[in-house]
Amino acid sequence: MRVAVEEVAAFRERARAWLAEAEVPGTPLGLDERFAVHRRWQRTLYDAGFMGIAWPRRFGGQGLTAQHQFAFVDELVRAHAPAPIGLIGLDVVGPSIHAFGTDVQRERFLPRLLSGADIWCQGFSEPGAGSDLASLSTRAEPDGDEFVVTGAKVWTSWAHEAAWCALLCRTNPTARKHEGISYLLVDMASPGITVRPITQMTGDAEFNEVFLDHVRVPRANVLGEVDGGWRIALDTLGRERGSYTMRRRVELEAGLADAVAQLRTAPPARRSHPRVLEEIGRAHVALRVLEAQTRRTLTRMLDESGAGPLDSVDKLVLNDAEQVVCRAIAELLGPFRVVPQSRPLGLDAGRWVHDHYYSRAASIYGGTSQIQRNIVAERLLGLPRG
Ligand SMILES: Cc1cc2nc3c(=O)[nH]c(=O)nc-3n(C[C@H](O)[C@H](O)[C@H](O)COP(=O)(O)OP(=O)(O)OC[C@H]3O[C@@H](n4cnc5c(N)ncnc54)[C@H](O)[C@@H]3O)c2cc1C
Repeated sequence: MRVAVEEVAAFRERARAWLAEAEVPGTPLGLDERFAVHRRWQRTLYDAGFMGIAWPRRFGGQGLTAQHQFAFVDELVRAHAPAPIGLIGLDVVGPSIHAFGTDVQRERFLPRLLSGADIWCQGFSEPGAGSDLASLSTRAEPDGDEFVVTGAKVWTSWAHEAAWCALLCRTNPTARKHEGISYLLVDMASPGITVRPITQMTGDAEFNEVFLDHVRVPRANVLGEVDGGWRIALDTLGRERGSYTMRRRVELEAGLADAVAQLRTAPPARRSHPRVLEEIGRAHVALRVLEAQTRRTLTRMLDESGAGPLDSVDKLVLNDAEQVVCRAIAELLGPFRVVPQSRPLGLDAGRWVHDHYYSRAASIYGGTSQIQRNIVAERLLGLPRG
């Protein structure tokens, strides 16, 4: 659904005025503190009517459009305000629950996901199934009104904080591999679940291994049809590639704008250092490409065309911009990169080094760049499968 430009402009004004008055939190470097602060912020945004902007009111949203949603993301970044913490629920799993869930599931899960009362994680990858996700081997066996789930997941972001997990399991071991998978909504407090953190190069332990040992999951928590989970998994992955791109673009724009503003005031030797200038120029171009691509994505979202192979183009363009922008800023920090508490040129070295390290993961999470290129070649260009 599209609305008049004036309507979105009025909404933007309202959001800007609210943000100007709001107590906008910072972004602590420590993971636990960051999580707590940004979760409270999500609740503040929810109470003020700025969460689930494009979702129906009945499920806790505001009943507006994707145009309003993206105007708000713009304003959030402009105010140097952080994103809400529950992004896996908001941008990845929630939209699939909205699209494929029953009304009972939507009413039960979506409002709590929007307010940050429930944090979600995504239990897709396994030690033996990442790029070839359909080879997953976590088993869910029917037992009366329940499934009994046993297996292991890995790289599960925020599993240690999550109340719920969107879990892919094999429910039919004899069917073809894409056809025997179900999408379960699993209560992380269920007996039989063990979560073990993995420390990343940023120093954070944001993702985890998750072990499931005879975990009982009610049939009522199957999303969509039993054995019909693959279609929903593709939807979830597509949204991870599309919606997140829209959000992240504005954050990168704001980061680079800050860096360029700082560069203008830097000592001449630093300001005109050829390597710094080259990296900043590259980053600017990457962001212009990303901007053009996200305009097309917004149009697709407004046409409600759903997730699809075009999301892989978004993901590839974002990967590039993410890594190029973070590298440009790291270059600008120069030797201060190794001093996390420093503020060379007024830039927060700790934050930017963290983001630079994290940006290395951009070409892996949500499906690697190689896999996205395969999707573009096979599904967009119709080339034969490799
Ligand atoms: C920061 C971060 C957060 C993550 N969060 C989550 C999460 O919350 N939930 C979750 O389920 N997963 C998560 N993941 C996991 C992520 O989805 C997987 O790492 C990714 O899908 C790749 O799988 P893999 O690590 O098993 O690599 P593999 O599949 O083993 O791939 C190894 C290499 O081989 C290449 N390769 C594999 N197959 C092909 C092919 N057919 N053609 C060409 N090249 C190929 C890959 O591109 C890659 O370079 C996260 C990953 C990261 C880095």
